[in-house]
Amino acid sequence: MNEILEPATRPEVSGEQQPAGQQTLKSVGYAAKHSFSNLKRFEFEREGAKQNEIEIEVLFCGVCHSDIHQVKNEWSNTVYPCLPGHEIVGRVSHIGPSVTRHRVGDLVGVGCMIDSCGTCGPCRAGDQNYCEGPNSWLATYNGPMVPAAKSPDQVNTYGRDNTYGGYSDTLVVNENFALKIPAGLRPDVAAPILCAGVTTYSPLKHWKVKTGDTVGIIGFGGLGDMAAKLAKAMGAQVTLFTHTQDKFPEAERLGVSVVYEKDKEAMQGLKSTFDFILSTVPQKHDINPYIQMLKRDCTLCVLGALEPLEPVDNSQVAFHRKNVAGSLIGNLADTQEVLDFCAKHDIGPDIQIIDIDDINDAYDRVEKGEVRFRYVIDMASLDA
Ligand SMILES: [Zn+2]
Ligand SMILES: [Zn+2]
Repeated sequence: MNEILEPATRPEVSGEQQPAGQQTLKSVGYAAKHSFSNLKRFEFEREGAKQNEIEIEVLFCGVCHSDIHQVKNEWSNTVYPCLPGHEIVGRVSHIGPSVTRHRVGDLVGVGCMIDSCGTCGPCRAGDQNYCEGPNSWLATYNGPMVPAAKSPDQVNTYGRDNTYGGYSDTLVVNENFALKIPAGLRPDVAAPILCAGVTTYSPLKHWKVKTGDTVGIIGFGGLGDMAAKLAKAMGAQVTLFTHTQDKFPEAERLGVSVVYEKDKEAMQGLKSTFDFILSTVPQKHDINPYIQMLKRDCTLCVLGALEPLEPVDNSQVAFHRKNVAGSLIGNLADTQEVLDFCAKHDIGPDIQIIDIDDINDAYDRVEKGEVRFRYVIDMASLDA
């Protein structure tokens, strides 16, 4: 992408054509300075939009479980100050001179990524989320997925060790990493679709879930809720597995079957019945009881947990030629597709709007597993 940044090819822009372009944007957000500290008001500056970048006035930002892992350094890779947020919806406030995809005033969304190498095999295939460049993709907050210290030549091709996410009033991104929020989708509801939505949509699409398929969803938090709604809208017969019987009425309201994980008889009765199973449980868990529920040649995909699971009993996998797989977020095309799919089918996450100064309490409740809906921060509360 370096060629288009060459000064020789940079078009001349007059002040009249491009109003209000700033060198730096004074910004405010909520950030944590250490793994043990709460999120607090944090003032900072962003570099204004260059060439093919857009400036966004952030309206809403969803609260993802991974924000909490990152703030607390639970993956041992957090760069501080940590300003989280990767479920961002806002309005374009300014565009760089080469921008063609978006206009000032457009409603746009930004998910987990704000750049990728653009040249590796996965990037060329449109799978930016599996970028194999020296620093993998550039995360919306916390910098490159592979920092300089862990890259092959100790380089950072993005030139930024830390990035600040959407718990703030502004964002500046490459135009290709901003998606269009379709008319008919509420901007606050759209926010969690940019991570939770595409993270569940991408494997359902990749493993070709279709009308009439039987699909199991393990876990009924924010990801499980989205997965169930999407699979149902794809025409599948959905069964949710939960360890909390309190969530039964919610599942029934969604019009899907629900099974209590500790009900051994019900679990046994589902042996060899599923075409596809998605695990959304965000920590170490035992998938062996679910592998038994797959039909021959079918797949169980784990997307919630990024740590070693209980060992898999390979006899169950081998005897019936089953697959155990994983999946990470989704690419840009899938992100646009899931936004459009949700607008078309009139589905979306159940959300609760919060003010940004409620964020630390919201984290506590998410950590206790009390929350099935998604918290979404109304960024207007930053000014209050
Ligand atoms: Zn997320
Ligand atoms: Zn790449």
